Amino acid sequence: MTSNKEELNRFIDYLQSQLVRNGSEVFLEKRWFADNRERLAAEMGDLARDEGDIFKRLEHDILSHRDQTSHDFFYTHQIFSPLLEKTLNICKQAGLSPVRPVVLANSPNVEPSPAAWPSTHSHILFIGPGTYSFCNYWAKVISTTQYKISQLQEEQRAAEQIETMLTNETIPVDAIKLVLHYALVGSLLGYGKLKQNDLLMGLRVQLLTAMEVFIVAHEVTHFVLHEQFSESGGIRPGSTALEMEQTCDAMGLAVCAAYGSEEDNIYAFDFMGPILFFYSLQLCQEGQNILLGYSPPKSTTHPTCEERIAFTFEFAKKSKVREVTLRNMKDAVIMMEALGHLVKAGVEIVRDRISTDAPKSHNSQ
Ligand SMILES: [Zn+2]
Repeated sequence: MTSNKEELNRFIDYLQSQLVRNGSEVFLEKRWFADNRERLAAEMGDLARDEGDIFKRLEHDILSHRDQTSHDFFYTHQIFSPLLEKTLNICKQAGLSPVRPVVLANSPNVEPSPAAWPSTHSHILFIGPGTYSFCNYWAKVISTTQYKISQLQEEQRAAEQIETMLTNETIPVDAIKLVLHYALVGSLLGYGKLKQNDLLMGLRVQLLTAMEVFIVAHEVTHFVLHEQFSESGGIRPGSTALEMEQTCDAMGLAVCAAYGSEEDNIYAFDFMGPILFFYSLQLCQEGQNILLGYSPPKSTTHPTCEERIAFTFEFAKKSKVREVTLRNMKDAVIMMEALGHLVKAGVEIVRDRISTDAPKSHNSQ
């Protein structure tokens, strides 16, 4: 290991320590991976005999992984390294990639949002379980919801009819539990098991990947902008932080479309990944507001989820996407509005029950 690399890792470790939050211990307690590494590798080795290269590579990765810093995490690299590489390649083909190298580092922050650290040497992308747990849980709930909707006749897929159908399913209950967990913890990390029909795994992974590619591409654009306008933190002269975020979203959407086309991922190609990510986050924030009366203060630097969904539609229209793309985007919103309506009603019931059942304080007796 070169001393430069050691120095960079020490710096990354310091920055990671600043991102540690309540709840980070769920994965910073890495004994599980250490204790189970040999067994996992053996299982992958067995699967490799029947299923081929992908498991062979996993077996190799599990055995060869070495934490780069004290806050490192195996799964962060497994999930995001290939997506970062793919994103950088797409940006390069478009002539819009950062010149300096991008280092992937685990983020110990439990929140869904990653963090970009642009620099004059190597850019650092902090991302990890806070992001992928959020995307994964919602991708499970949403892909199951979509599967149920697909069983309805086309003419029965209006918001009200979807809502009626969902009231007979367990999906809204799962979604309410996710929102309640987020409301209390600010993350879905540590939520635990959420069962899903194995047949829907393909759909879930496609949606999850579309969300993650958009998120990674957004952050990579921050690096590109920072190289161009380093003195203003990536903000183009005469423009604002909000506009910079929109540029990053626009590039994120463009990368999503390219990724969707290359990987045959409809959620990425038709921008449903980003829309469903923002809608899930918005629902979590609304749930937090209903339950605790807390809503994040209006940011002067970041658009709201609602604004980012509206921007995605504007971007799609300006890009003259196919009619079917717009329809898929609209269907995604209709589905989330139906689910969201049930979820918010459920969270209200929980809030009312808590306030009715709460023991009266001594002073009020
Ligand atoms: Zn941003």
